[in-house]
Formats: sequence, C-alpha cells, structure tokens
Amino acid sequence: MQILCDWLSEFDCQHIWHPYSSVCDPLPVYFVDSASGVRIRLLDGRELIDGMSSWWAAIHGYNHPDLNSAIVDQLSRMSHVMFGGFTHRPAIELGAKLVELLPSDLTKVFFADSGSVAVEVAMKMALQYHWAVGQIQRKKFLTIRYGYHGDTFGAMSVCDPVTGMHSIFSGVLAEQIFVESPSLQCRFDSDWNDDFISEFKSKLIANRGSIAAVILEPIVQGAGGMLFYSPIYLRRVRELCDENGLLLILDEIATGFGRTGKLFAMEHAGVVPDIVCLGKALTGGYVTLSAVLTTDKVATAISNGTPPEFMHGPTFMANPLACAVACRSIELLLSYDWRGQVKNIETQMNDILKSATKFSGVVDVRVLGAIGVIETKSRVDIAAIQKRFVDAGVWVRPFGKLIYLMPPYTISDGDLQYLLRTVTKITEEFFG
Ligand SMILES: *Cc1c(COP(=O)(O)O)cnc(C)c1O
Repeated sequence: MQILCDWLSEFDCQHIWHPYSSVCDPLPVYFVDSASGVRIRLLDGRELIDGMSSWWAAIHGYNHPDLNSAIVDQLSRMSHVMFGGFTHRPAIELGAKLVELLPSDLTKVFFADSGSVAVEVAMKMALQYHWAVGQIQRKKFLTIRYGYHGDTFGAMSVCDPVTGMHSIFSGVLAEQIFVESPSLQCRFDSDWNDDFISEFKSKLIANRGSIAAVILEPIVQGAGGMLFYSPIYLRRVRELCDENGLLLILDEIATGFGRTGKLFAMEHAGVVPDIVCLGKALTGGYVTLSAVLTTDKVATAISNGTPPEFMHGPTFMANPLACAVACRSIELLLSYDWRGQVKNIETQMNDILKSATKFSGVVDVRVLGAIGVIETKSRVDIAAIQKRFVDAGVWVRPFGKLIYLMPPYTISDGDLQYLLRTVTKITEEFFG
C-alpha cells in the first residue's frame, strides 16, 4: 500500500498540473483519501478542518447524504443525454428554482459547464443583444481593476490586467476598458462620496458608444484580491448603465447562495442585473455546473435578431447529475437557517480573526458574511505556512498576500473556533 501511494504521489509530482502551478517545479500537494462534513481526511490518516469549502463551493460540507442520494437516484435513470432536442426533469426543476430565487426580471436560463464558460456565455449574450438591436459597434466591456472572472479568453480579458498577467497574452486578449477598483476607496461600510464613482462615470461616458456591457463581481472581488466594496457603488453603476443603454452583467459565481450574508450579493445593493452568472456553490460543490440568467428584454431582442439563435450549446449542457444535485443543494440550503449560520460565522470571525490586526506584518483584516480575510504586508510563503496549517489540522490555502477563510456553513462552533484560533496563531508566527 505504501509503495503504491508513493508511486501515485510521485506520478502526480512528475506529470500532473495543479491550478496555477509549475508542472516541473511544483509546490507540495497533500493526498486526500476522503472527506465528510467539514473534515478532509488525508491518506496518511490526518484529518483537517476545512476552511475553504473547496473554493466557495462545498457550502454544506462533503459527502452529504442528501446530495449523495440526489446523484445516485439520478444516476439510476441516466447520467447524461444531449440537451439538443431533449429535455429532462432535473434541468426543468433547477431552472424553475433559479427563476424563483432570483429577482423576478431574470426569467431565462442558460446552463453551462463552469464559471468561466458562464462568463463567456454572458459576454456573448451582451454582444449578441447589441448585434440584434443594430448597435453593432458596441463590442467592449467596462470593468474594475482587481476583478476575477475565470480563465478562458473572454473571461481573462476582464480579469485584472496585472494579476491576470495580460502581458503574456497581449495581442490575443480583447482589450477592455478598466477603471480603478472601488474597493480601495469605498470599503463595504465606508461613508459614500460621489467622487468614488467619478472615474467610472467619465470612462463610461467617454466610451459609451462602443461599450456592450459593464461586468462586475457584486460587492466582493474574489480571487483578484478578496476585497469588499460599497453597495452604493453598485447602485450608481446600475443607474449609469440605464442612463447610457448599457447592459449590466453581475458575476455571482463566488458570492451566490448565501456566502456574503445575502442569498445573492446583489441584494446588498438592491440592484438587478440584465445578466447574472452562477456557479461554484450551485451544486453544493459536487460537480461542475453553471447557469446564466437574463431578462425577457435581452432574450427577446436576441430572438428577434438575425440569426435568432443564441450561439452557444455545450456537449454536456444541463447535465442531469449536476442539475439534480444542484436542485437538492438549493432545497437543503433553504431548509436550514443558513442566514443564522453565516451570521454566526461572521460574528466569530470578527471576534477572533480581527485580533490579527495588531500583528506587525498584517495590513488589514476584513470580514463579510462567511468570508474572512487577513491581508499581509509581504507575500505569504505558501508551502511553509500550509505545512504549519496541515500539521495543526486545518485546511487553508493562501495566495499572494492573502490568508483567507470561507468555511462550509455547516461548521460547528467548536470546529470554527479551532479553525479561527489556529489561523490567527499561525499568522502570528509568520507575521507577528
Ligand atoms: C471561480 C470564479 C469564476 C470561474 O469559475 P470556474 O468554474 O473556475 O471556471 C468566475 N468568476 C468568479 C467571480 C469566480 O470566483
């Protein structure tokens, strides 16, 4: 057994790429054998309390009996059939749930494979809308710095140009219009000043004839910097889009399904987009699936255009296993007091994590909903700090200058306190 495991780890190390890594000189990876609840079990028998929800996704924890049975039940009927010319119950039920959950203007649903593809689909919808209504010169997207929207080419073009390494792909990536991030000036609960929107407003007006849509992550900028900005900014963006005939795309892939304390982060601002992207926690972290919803207005305009078809249709569109587990995950979320649980995580993070503010190597500690972020002065030595975390029995994956947490909502008070105290203590070892 040991020999087999050594061989497997060695193969991984020699041949397999991990996210954002070098395949020839990789950082260490930990071999997971199984996971259940908020515990991730390593092959060597150690157990880790999960602080990441596998990147926003596993909101109910792992190996959940209800979610397992949703997949198994669907598997015994069919795992997949093509969505061209066919339909099926899991897709219809999921579509109905999403239309019900989201603001009433968002009525039309497109299922795609992953978050990045949802962003491609949303951008394509905006372009096809303007094509259909005869505004064919509107081909650019306006966005803010420090955004993250995925790794495919359209999505990359609206990611932060510096952290997203646009230099490597220049000449291939579409050139979009960027303004400074609101997160640097108007934090989530800062007092509002109309100056905060002035650069956005002037760039929007200067380029209004060529912009198809504004695309933003609402309130929380995730992988581009774990930053939180004022809901009033988002409200002003909506007004400016309306005044200038631009569509607004909100990327709720990270923030959707309760993470920020609202079911969707747009609710902090009371703003309804023309197009919304969902992913990550959509299936409770079980399998990949995303959804793009839009309004009757956008859908009708595209359908009245030439061609009337919307030009996208992935092979695994509306995969029944994915849709079935997504339906169950939504039912599960609504069946318990997720608001109370997220609020409790927020309170404990404010109590415990905020004590890291006084460490000399820490610049900022911020908390919103079930998201906690410690920002450090210098880059985190990921391999070294991660080894300390794993030795202490917690799973945390820092990047850049950020040590951040987003545990499953179902985490118990005892596990949560252990996680937060351990992260604070180890941060002090490295940045105290
Ligand atoms: C993760 C993420 C994406 C990309 O989703 P994938 O499923 O990784 O392709 C897009 N937008 C946001 C805001 C994300 O957090």
